[in-house]
Amino acid sequence: MKLKTCIVVFSALLAPAVARPLALTAQSSPSTRHLTDLNWMEVGELVPERMSTVLLPVGTLEAHGVAPNGSDILVPDSMALRMAADLDALVAPSINYGVNTGLDEFPGTFGIPADVLRRTAEAVMRGLHASGFKNIIVLNGHGPNFEPLNQAAEDVFKTTDARVLVINWWSVTPDITEDVFGTQGGHAGNNETAAVLALRPDLVHEERYEGEEQTTPFTAGMQAWPFPSSIGLYAPGQGFPDFDPDKAERYFDLVVARMLEISRDVIAKWNRAGL
Ligand SMILES: [Zn+2]
Repeated sequence: MKLKTCIVVFSALLAPAVARPLALTAQSSPSTRHLTDLNWMEVGELVPERMSTVLLPVGTLEAHGVAPNGSDILVPDSMALRMAADLDALVAPSINYGVNTGLDEFPGTFGIPADVLRRTAEAVMRGLHASGFKNIIVLNGHGPNFEPLNQAAEDVFKTTDARVLVINWWSVTPDITEDVFGTQGGHAGNNETAAVLALRPDLVHEERYEGEEQTTPFTAGMQAWPFPSSIGLYAPGQGFPDFDPDKAERYFDLVVARMLEISRDVIAKWNRAGL
């Protein structure tokens, strides 16, 4: 055999072992957790062989007291990035428009119809599943999105082998709000304002907070349209925004830890039950 042929044959024999010298190995981490920042070859190397979980943040554009209108986008999006490495997951681009109720008269606030969100979320979940993800963890930042997101999740779970978890981050952490602030929370109250403060302190304008007059408690049996304040308290007399940066950091760390705990627990149980 001529030397040149020999080298070609030798290379061919080696090919399976060296064909993907730059591919991500089982030990290495991806260069980024953003699905949008990976190219198709990198995604192909990672999913589904190495990674089967994707985080999908969902928010809306809505007035939030002295926190930004995009608070419900910022918080789950940042939360997803904080959770991704621990879950060995990628983060899908968020769905930034949601279903609003009662605050649409506030400047820069509007929602989309519930069935539009439901169908959009369903299409996105189907796309993520078709891309190889088995576990879809939806991090919801906004209450009225919950029902359409669950309807979408149910449709996807019934018609594919995807497993979908939908979590409202503030609904699963009221004890953390109590522990850190000593009170219940509120829409744009201590809990949400703290989450934004921990992430983007430059976007929380404490100097514009005028106190209790800027807040209204949610009261069973009473509903004003439009709701008169963009800060809604879960209980009268408590949940007012708190601007202490140390509490905010502590609060958000605990919230992320809780979200991780819930996600890990559900995935482990799905696996254990062979679902
Ligand atoms: Zn919010």
